[in-house]
Amino acid sequence: MNNYGTRSHALVRGQGCYLYDEQGQPYLDALSGIAVCGLGHSHPAVTKAISQQAAELLHISNLFNIGPQQALADKLCRAAKMERAFFSNSGAEANEAAIKIARKYGLQKGLAQPKILATHGSFHGRTLATLSATGNAKVQDGFLALRDSFVHVNYNDIDAIKQAAAENPEIVAILVEPIQGEGGVNTPASDYLEQLREICDQNQWLLMLDEIQTGNGRTGKYFAYQHSNILPDVLTTAKGLGNGVPIGACLARGLAAEILQPGNHGSTYGGNPLVCRAAEAVADALADGKLIQRAAVLGEKISSGISQGLSNNPLFVEVRGRGLMIGIELTQSCPELVELAWQQQLIINVTAANTIRLLPPLILSDEQADEIINKIVALVNQLSATHTAL
Ligand code: PLP
Repeated sequence: MNNYGTRSHALVRGQGCYLYDEQGQPYLDALSGIAVCGLGHSHPAVTKAISQQAAELLHISNLFNIGPQQALADKLCRAAKMERAFFSNSGAEANEAAIKIARKYGLQKGLAQPKILATHGSFHGRTLATLSATGNAKVQDGFLALRDSFVHVNYNDIDAIKQAAAENPEIVAILVEPIQGEGGVNTPASDYLEQLREICDQNQWLLMLDEIQTGNGRTGKYFAYQHSNILPDVLTTAKGLGNGVPIGACLARGLAAEILQPGNHGSTYGGNPLVCRAAEAVADALADGKLIQRAAVLGEKISSGISQGLSNNPLFVEVRGRGLMIGIELTQSCPELVELAWQQQLIINVTAANTIRLLPPLILSDEQADEIINKIVALVNQLSATHTAL
């Protein structure tokens, strides 16, 4: 189907931070399959886990106890300070589980039509429920979004939430990204999550964090909420969780962890032995914290290098983000930069029309970080030169 439009380039192989085209040309990957391959491509531990598990047991149903699933749940719950896990095959499905938890929680509270508060500019997935949670008309239009089930307010606006709380007694939960990814790497005030926690406690709402893009070391902590001093009730993650195998997880603690009961939810493939063994290899690689710390250091280096390099460029607005989740906002939309970067053998992304997004692997070397800085600065300079010439 034409949902991805025309794709002009093919990549056939990956190794570390490089992807290769059919001619064997290398491309420095500053996107990681959109925050997926945090350990880079063909990581030996992930490859080994997948090969060994494939030779042993690919799949059994969730009617049976699955050892690797239990082991992964233990590791993730320890890392996230959560108590229970449900495994899905994607980020959207992890959020579906969270949405179901919130709705059942609301019904148990006696509300006929429980609502979830979400934010404008968010992205939570493409299933019917998650596109309804997504605060972006372009994602929703044409699909009869379930508008009665969500209330949207501006991101990073605590007063708007208090007002929504006063106007909507049916709200039972907040679903929010600690940093909005697709929406433009929008980074809220440093006490945003603490304030959300306080509002949730006051109103007996569940605080549900979508860490599908921000999780698994990307922002310089295992989960981005760990930059603050709170615990969510529900945390969803995917992308970097499996380094490329399709897996998502909805983690929960306390009351929220007890809401889904036998028969309430399920997935044929969710948490199967193959994907769980791969995700365990990722969790093991992150466990000593060194790569996560490295993401923080590299993020500082790239962000300040680009800020300095572009400080006199008229198109440059600011660099945002945390760790290796970096957005560079320009004054004008700049989708053409993706192709210009490709020609320089660099893979990047542009989101929210005018924001260059960098999500490189956590295993990036200093030299590769310098290459990203130099190429981005040169590309934006090239763009502004064309702009001035026009
Ligand atoms: N939530 C966030 C914050 C995301 O960035 C994404 C994907 O970009 C999703 C949810 C949906 O994940 P998936 O594409 O795996 O369904």
